[in-house]
Amino acid sequence: MSVNQPQPQRVHEEFDFNDADVVFSSSDNVLFRLHRKNLELLGEIFPGGEFSADGEVVHLQEPSKRRKRLDDLGHVTLADVAEAAEKYRMYTAMDACEMRLEAILPVSPSLVLAHALKHNIPKLINASARQMCLWNVQNVFRGRVPNEYVVPWGEYHTCCQEILFDKLTNFVESHLNASKYDENDQACAITSAYWFTKKLRSRPTPVFTSIQDRLFWNESLREHTELTPTCPYIPTAEAVSEGGPETCWIHYEIFDFLMGCIREVNGLSFTSFIEQDRKRTMPMDWY
Ligand SMILES: [Zn+2]
Repeated sequence: MSVNQPQPQRVHEEFDFNDADVVFSSSDNVLFRLHRKNLELLGEIFPGGEFSADGEVVHLQEPSKRRKRLDDLGHVTLADVAEAAEKYRMYTAMDACEMRLEAILPVSPSLVLAHALKHNIPKLINASARQMCLWNVQNVFRGRVPNEYVVPWGEYHTCCQEILFDKLTNFVESHLNASKYDENDQACAITSAYWFTKKLRSRPTPVFTSIQDRLFWNESLREHTELTPTCPYIPTAEAVSEGGPETCWIHYEIFDFLMGCIREVNGLSFTSFIEQDRKRTMPMDWY
């Protein structure tokens, strides 16, 4: 890596790292004090002239080096690359990283949330927060997510829990208390809610997509079948193949209700909770 240094006028205020191990300057004599490690990482993935400044090029890699693909990176490394791309305002790299971060959302939502919060990318903030809406504070803030978001997270999390669990509990209770339902119906209502509340809550860090996908329906149906042998509506394999009812109507009704709750959570955005929190903590004369 070679750097030519013209007479420096000033150091760029955002790119002035005390422990910088590489310095380069722009055509208007602004110094950038950067980390070689980040440049190399970026250069491996996005080789090219993105660091050229008026004829001065910082060469980031040997030409023979094989180019790494973003898809091949581990998620933590990807987050580091995305961070470096933001730091050095490499727009092509930033876009590519954002797309890749979006793809790893269901697996590593907290890494994505931390990055999105730091660089204010609302689309990724909301999508990753939604993935983690069942996570408690300990799990969300164990990683890179900054502690300043604890309060809005607590409020968002509580709101999602209320929609997903408390409303469902009320709905099931209404089934239990209505006189038109017999004991079989009540058993169906309880077991249908059981899978969701017990099973999902007992998973350490369930992601939101796990309750939206087809597995959710199949698992809940199996649970219903196992725990409610008295259910008169449990379909046989033949009935299903003949296009008959998939399951009992109470199970279906509760499942349908749940899907409504899931849509409601989908409609919430963590950014609005952050906004609310900011307004509240602002001094009065800011209004
Ligand atoms: Zn049933």
